[in-house]
Amino acid sequence: MNMLEIILDKRYGRSLSDEQIAFFVKGVTDGSIPDYQTSALLMAIVLNGMDEREMTTLTLEMASSGKPNDLSYLDGIPVDKHSTGGVGDKITPILMPLISSFGVQTVKLSGRGLGFTGGTVDKFASIDGFNIELPHTELEKYVKETGMAISAQTPDLAPADKILYSLRDVTGTVDSIPLIASSIMSKKLAGGAHAIVLDVTCGSGAFMKTEERARALAEAMIKIGKSAGRDMCAVITDMDQPLGRCCGNTLEMQEVYETLTGKGSQDVIDIVTELAVRLIQMADKADGMSEDELRKECVERLIDGRAHLKYSELIVSQGGRLDAIGSPIYREYPFDAMHVTSPDEGYVRAIRADLIGQASMLLGAGRLAKTDEIDYGAGICFYAKRGDKVRRGDVLCSLCHGEHANLDEDRLYEAMDMALEAYEIGPEPPEHRDSVIDVLS
Ligand code: URA
Repeated sequence: MNMLEIILDKRYGRSLSDEQIAFFVKGVTDGSIPDYQTSALLMAIVLNGMDEREMTTLTLEMASSGKPNDLSYLDGIPVDKHSTGGVGDKITPILMPLISSFGVQTVKLSGRGLGFTGGTVDKFASIDGFNIELPHTELEKYVKETGMAISAQTPDLAPADKILYSLRDVTGTVDSIPLIASSIMSKKLAGGAHAIVLDVTCGSGAFMKTEERARALAEAMIKIGKSAGRDMCAVITDMDQPLGRCCGNTLEMQEVYETLTGKGSQDVIDIVTELAVRLIQMADKADGMSEDELRKECVERLIDGRAHLKYSELIVSQGGRLDAIGSPIYREYPFDAMHVTSPDEGYVRAIRADLIGQASMLLGAGRLAKTDEIDYGAGICFYAKRGDKVRRGDVLCSLCHGEHANLDEDRLYEAMDMALEAYEIGPEPPEHRDSVIDVLS
């Protein structure tokens, strides 16, 4: 078998055999296939697609390219959740303790953020002392203590995906349903969960800009997961404006705390509870409650402190510190630097999440390259969201940087222009959009 034939087969729109896909993934992982041939095949896949069998084989080969995680020590069915990402997405740190309060044990292996969709690892890392790089041999010990553990993914979890993703990033081959689906699902399968809930975001701040594409991605991932014997479900959620009240690492973790103490914003609560209901059901911990009863019970636990109690246990067990009222202590606190005000009177018709994400990056909240340092205090707070009525001069959002950041003024002004451009103000209110658009299984 040789790589040139494989490239030509895909270039002319033919299906690749399981042997060809296995040869490709093995060669990518051991470095025997040069980057230029890998990139050529990736482009041919972008242009000519893959059928369900090819996608499943690619995913399984990538999942077994490293050392799959064994979660057999968990008490109950191992479940996992994955989000295709977005701006202000702080769902995982709320969801884990919430489902843990129902007895669902979880081990979350998360990525660091690259680009404008921040990673969960960076969010937890904003808590002073929190250890986000737990030795994987010790995860079990942490789970025994609190029922949960969260850690950065290690390089041996689906290494073929890491190699492919870094090439896709620089060859214009990220946006392809077979490549995204196999990339995400390879890590989920290698992560060891038996039941997986996918939060597939759609809109300006997501990979999938339209609901149609989000559904296609969700369906592809569900098929792959089911072929691999996993229980699967996908929730399509709105990412056409940033999620919640802010984006940025410490800011988002402050919002996590607010949500866990009964003061969450409705969009965050709606998405968290929908995902929690699915995970609790799949983990067989619904205890006879109907879907509606479970949903109400989830909201109740965000208000009455039960989810917050689990959150505090998680923070303390991984080395984080809490203040006298039980809020985490952060490495860097946000400092309100500049307000962006409305140029007109009217309704907020849209907030382009991609532009907000880029403005937040300029402030220092995210990294462009893997080695970039981030400012944990940087980010943006939203005072007006889609549908709100504003007057000329009202504050739409405020840009923040860390207390100790040395942010260059030009960057601050550039971020401010971008944030202003993200807001569309018009005379008519926009159509209502639900945060949870659909649930597929
Ligand atoms: N997230 C992933 O893990 N992989 C992709 O290809 C896109 C988003």
